[in-house]
Amino acid sequence: MSSKPKAPRGLAGMAAPSRAALLAAAFSTPRPSRLARALELAPKAAEGADALGLHTVGDLLEHVPRARREARTVAALAPGETATVLVEVRSIAARPVRRRGMRPLVEATVADATGPMQATFFNQPWLAKRYEPGTRLVLHGKYEGRGRFRVANHATTEEAAAGTEEVSHYAASEGLSSTQILALIAAERLALRDVVDALPGRLRARHALPTRGAALEAMHFGEGPQEVERGRERLAFEELLLVQLALLARRAREDSGAGALALDGEAILTAGWLAHELPFTLTADQLGAIEALRAELAGERPTQRLLMGEVGSGKTVVALFAMLRAVEHGHQAAMMAPTETLAEQHFATIQRLLGGQNVTLALLTGSTPAARRAELLGRLASGECSLVVGTHALIEEPVRFRNLAVAVVDEQHRFGVRQRTALHSKAPDGHAPHVVHMTATPIPRTLALCEYGDLDQTRLHERPLGRRAPATHVVSGERERARAYERIAEELRAGRQAFVVCPLIEAGELEEGVGAAAQARAATEEFERLRAGELRDFRLVLLHGQLGHREKQAAMAAFAAGEADVLVATTVIEVGIDVPNATVMLIENAERFGISQLHQLRGRVGRGEHASLCLLCGPKGSPRLTALARHDDGFELAEIDLRLRKEGELVGTRQSGVGQFQLARMPEDEALLMAARAAAEGLIAADPLLASPEHALLADRLAELYGEITAHPIAA
Ligand code: ADP
Ligand code: MG
Repeated sequence: MSSKPKAPRGLAGMAAPSRAALLAAAFSTPRPSRLARALELAPKAAEGADALGLHTVGDLLEHVPRARREARTVAALAPGETATVLVEVRSIAARPVRRRGMRPLVEATVADATGPMQATFFNQPWLAKRYEPGTRLVLHGKYEGRGRFRVANHATTEEAAAGTEEVSHYAASEGLSSTQILALIAAERLALRDVVDALPGRLRARHALPTRGAALEAMHFGEGPQEVERGRERLAFEELLLVQLALLARRAREDSGAGALALDGEAILTAGWLAHELPFTLTADQLGAIEALRAELAGERPTQRLLMGEVGSGKTVVALFAMLRAVEHGHQAAMMAPTETLAEQHFATIQRLLGGQNVTLALLTGSTPAARRAELLGRLASGECSLVVGTHALIEEPVRFRNLAVAVVDEQHRFGVRQRTALHSKAPDGHAPHVVHMTATPIPRTLALCEYGDLDQTRLHERPLGRRAPATHVVSGERERARAYERIAEELRAGRQAFVVCPLIEAGELEEGVGAAAQARAATEEFERLRAGELRDFRLVLLHGQLGHREKQAAMAAFAAGEADVLVATTVIEVGIDVPNATVMLIENAERFGISQLHQLRGRVGRGEHASLCLLCGPKGSPRLTALARHDDGFELAEIDLRLRKEGELVGTRQSGVGQFQLARMPEDEALLMAARAAAEGLIAADPLLASPEHALLADRLAELYGEITAHPIAA
C-alpha cells in the first residue's frame, strides 16, 4: 500500500500541487475582522463618511471610484477651472492674515514638469510643517489664473496613488472629499488583503478572475485604464452573477416545490379552436409561443413563461391557448390584469376570440356587484365556470377554484411577491399553477435577463398582418411644419381623425409638482391656437390631466364617436384610446420624449384599415427621432434606446427601474452577463440551495442582498 502524498491544507486538490502552482498561489491569510474596524475620523469627516454609508474599513475599501480623471498639468490649467493636479512642493510657508480670528494662510510654491504655481491652503496652518519641500501632493481645487491655485482638497501622493497620471474620483459628501477618500483608502491599502472573496475558487480559476481584493485594488489604484477596467469587470461579473443566482435560485425553488397539473391530454378543444374559430392566421411568433407552451404545460414542472410583445402583437391569443389547454383537461384557468379597464378589455377580446366555442367565461373585478360575485364564487368553487378574467379581486381570500391549472398574469411587474404567492395558493392542494406572464413593455435582452431571468421568455416581434406601422417623419422648421398641417387637413377632409400631442414640460422649467398643471396649460394654449389657426375648419377637442373625470370621458367619447376631428392632448392619451379611424398623429417637441414613449404614443394610430402617419416635430439630427423614423419594432427601439442612454441623450423621461447596477453597464457588458448567467446556471444545477461549503460565502452574499434562499417559501 502506497500512501499518497497529502495535498497541503488550503489547496484542497486531489493531487499535490505543482511547484509552479505553489509559487503562484496567494499565501495571504485574510482576516476579515480587520475590515470591521471602525473608521477613525475627525468629527466633520466622520459626518461626511456617515452620509456616504462608510463606517468601517471594509466599507471604505468597497467604495469604488465613480470615475478616473486625468490629472491636469499646471501649464494647461485655465483660469476658473476646477481640476486635480499632481505636484511637488518647492517651498511652503504660513502667512498671517490681517483679519482677527482667522487662521494663517499657507502658501506653497508647487510644480510639475510643466511649471510652477502658487497654491493656497486655508485654515490649516499646520500644513506648513507637514508638507515639506519635496513632498509630492495631489491637489484638487480651483485655478484662479495668474499662477494662483486655491486648494480645496489635498493629500500626499503616497497616501494617494504614486506616479499615476490618473486619479480616482469618488462619490463624496460635505465633510469628506474625493481626495480625502482616496487618501484614506490608500492608508488602508493593506487591508485589501483581508477582503473576503465570495466566488468559489474553481469558478475564479475557470474564468481567470482576480480575487475581489485584487479587483478593488485595481479599481482604486490601477495604473492605466486597462488595469482599472479589469478590476471593474471582475466586480461587475460578481454583481451580475449574484443577480442571476438570485433569479435562478428562486426558479429552482419553485421547480422543486409543488408540481403543476400535467396538461398532456388530447387537444379536443384547442385543435378545433385553432383550426376554425380564429378569424386570422397566426404569426410565426405566435405559433412558436404556442408550441413552447404546449410542451411545457404537458409536464409537471410549473410553467413560468413570459410573453413579451407590444400591444396588438397577439399575446392574448397565445395566453388563451394555454387557458384552453386547462379547460380541455377539465380544469380551470384565470387571467389577472392590473386594472379593471384592462380586465374588461381582456374579457371582451377573449369572448371574441372564443368564437363559437362553448366555454364558460366570467369577469370578476372590484366592481362586480355583490350578488353576481357571490354567484360567480360558487361557480368557480364548483368548477362550473372554467375561465375567469379579473383583477386582484381574483386572488382575494374567499375566491376558491375547484382546480386551477393555468394562471395568466398581465403586466406581472406590477404584482408583488405576496400577490404571486396568493395566486399560487389558488391551485389545488399540493399543486402549483402553470403561469404565463404577459408584458407589453419591450425591454432590451440584457435587461430582460436581469429583470425576468427567472422566467422563460418568448418575444412576439411580428405585427399581425393588416396592421401597418405608421410612416414616421421628423418635421423641422416652419416650411415642414406648414406642410405637416396640410397633411393633417388632407386626412381630416378624407374623413379620418388626428391626434396632436403637446410637449412635455422640461423638468428644468418647472418646480416640483406643478408639471401636470403646466402641461395642461400648454395643451390648452395649443388647442386655442390651432382652433383659431391651421385647423380652424375642423372640430377640435381638448384632453389633459387637469380635467375632471366627466370632462375627460366626454372628450374621449366625442373623439371615439367621430364627433370631433382632432384630439389635442397631453400624454394622457397613452392610456388606452382605441380609435381605428385616427390615422395621423403630430407630436410637438418630440425630442423631449423618450423613445419608448414616442413609440407607444404613435401606436395610437394605424389601428384601422387606413395607412397612417406620425409626425415628430423636432430637430433633424436627433438620433432618437431618427431611430423612430427608421424602426418599427419596439424591441429594436428598446435596444437603441439603451445604447443612446449611455451617451446621455435621453432627457426627461421615465427611467425603467432595471439595469441599476453599481458596476455593470448594459448593453456593453452583455458578454459578461452571459458568462455570469452560464456560471449561475452551472452553480444552481449542481447545488440549488448553495448549501455546499465552497458556496457558503456566495450564499451569504446572496442572503445579504436578496434575502435567504430557502427550500419552499411559497405555500403550495
Ligand atoms: P395583445 O394582447 O398582444 O395586445 P391581442 O392578442 O389582444 O394582442 O391581439 C390584438 C388584436 O389583434 C386582437 O383583436 C386579435 O384578435 C388580433 N390578432 C391577434 N393575432 C392576430 C393575427 N395573427 N392576425 C390578425 N389579427 C390578430
Ligand atoms: Mg390584448
